[in-house]
Amino acid sequence: LRSAYVASNPKSSECYQAATKVMPGGNTRSVLFYEPFPLAISRGEGSRLWDADNHEYTDLLGEFTAGLYGHSHPEIRKAINAALDGGINLTGHNLLEPRLAELVSKRFPSVEKLRFANSGTEANLLAIAAAKRFTNRSKVMVFKGGYHGGVLTFAAGPSPINVPHDFVIGSYNDIPGTTALVNEHAADLAAIVVEPMQGAGGCIVGQPEFLEALRKLATEAGALLIFDEVMTSRLAPGGRQSQLGITPDMTTLGKYIGGGMSFGAFGGREDIMALFDPRTPGHLGHAGTFNNNVLSMSAGIAGLSRIYTPEVAVQLNARGDALRERLNASCSAHGAQLQFTGLGSLMNLHGVSSEILRCDDIPASEGIVKDLFFFHMLQHGFYVARRGFIVLSLPLTDSDLDRFCNAFEEFLKRYTKALA
Ligand code: PMP
Repeated sequence: LRSAYVASNPKSSECYQAATKVMPGGNTRSVLFYEPFPLAISRGEGSRLWDADNHEYTDLLGEFTAGLYGHSHPEIRKAINAALDGGINLTGHNLLEPRLAELVSKRFPSVEKLRFANSGTEANLLAIAAAKRFTNRSKVMVFKGGYHGGVLTFAAGPSPINVPHDFVIGSYNDIPGTTALVNEHAADLAAIVVEPMQGAGGCIVGQPEFLEALRKLATEAGALLIFDEVMTSRLAPGGRQSQLGITPDMTTLGKYIGGGMSFGAFGGREDIMALFDPRTPGHLGHAGTFNNNVLSMSAGIAGLSRIYTPEVAVQLNARGDALRERLNASCSAHGAQLQFTGLGSLMNLHGVSSEILRCDDIPASEGIVKDLFFFHMLQHGFYVARRGFIVLSLPLTDSDLDRFCNAFEEFLKRYTKALA
């Protein structure tokens, strides 16, 4: 598979070599690198991508969830063009910002007040800063396998360049262990930050009882519960929190909510967010030249109000659930020790069939399965993440998903013996 990949991608290889002359590793996002060299993507349209060698791919990664609307949604284009017509870099409060804020707050009722940023990473940094100030405490509880941005990462991977917060690292889906840890640090604990489903960690679903326990523990300890819904907010009209019926004190958002443009948002209880009100002496400063940029605001408004309506959100995630069940049924039928974990439109392949509750349940050896899967899928015209992550975007048709299932069947047929 690897030699076929090298042979069929000479232009991507050339692009990569050239790019390494000006950027370490040839790119500015570590997650996009893979051996022997990554594909150079030249353009996208709808649910399709093309690489430098002009191979066409069906995009089943969707910019790690930010690409929900596909590469050229007419409503998004219209919104961006309208913003361009009004001029960019307006350097002032603008008319679009409060409209998007209102849409987000209506969608996620726990977000009584919110502010925008440029990325999910920033959103989490700001939410943590708010929690520390609000509680006047210093410690931040996170979970092993969690990912809250490039400087807040607790998942396997390259050495993190983490911000120097005083982290307490718990074990995901472990109620007794987490209870003990919270009790040990209760007096100093400012926040518990958690993804309702660990996304980058491999789509590990947070058990409802665990997340409910976190709600109770945070309240008892006087710490704030922060749900990082940067990825999971797309799982239901009101995000994963609405499905669980759990109200966090703060929520962080990003990805598709900016219509596919650079975006982050954080918000929550009005009394906490009041810390950012510049009319109050001693308020927290929150700056960012592009926080309210009209392109993200306009695209975000179009996306939430006209495209990803509550009905569409329900439909897309039901299609994802059906796809995951179908893929898992294929794994069982072939007796393959594989599974897709996840919820709705987000799923991840793993090289074990036993239940995965936390990252320690994932064997390091599964890397080989994921490599085979990745190159097999590319060969069959499907663009997925090297780590086995699959994301449904709106322009994908049922026939695209059928073809994907067939290609996966083929994968199982070819490799079950080798994988056993
Ligand atoms: N939190 C979660 C749960 C994420 O999945 C991500 C991005 N993958 C982030 C935060 C960071 O968002 P961004 O890449 O926009 O900084």
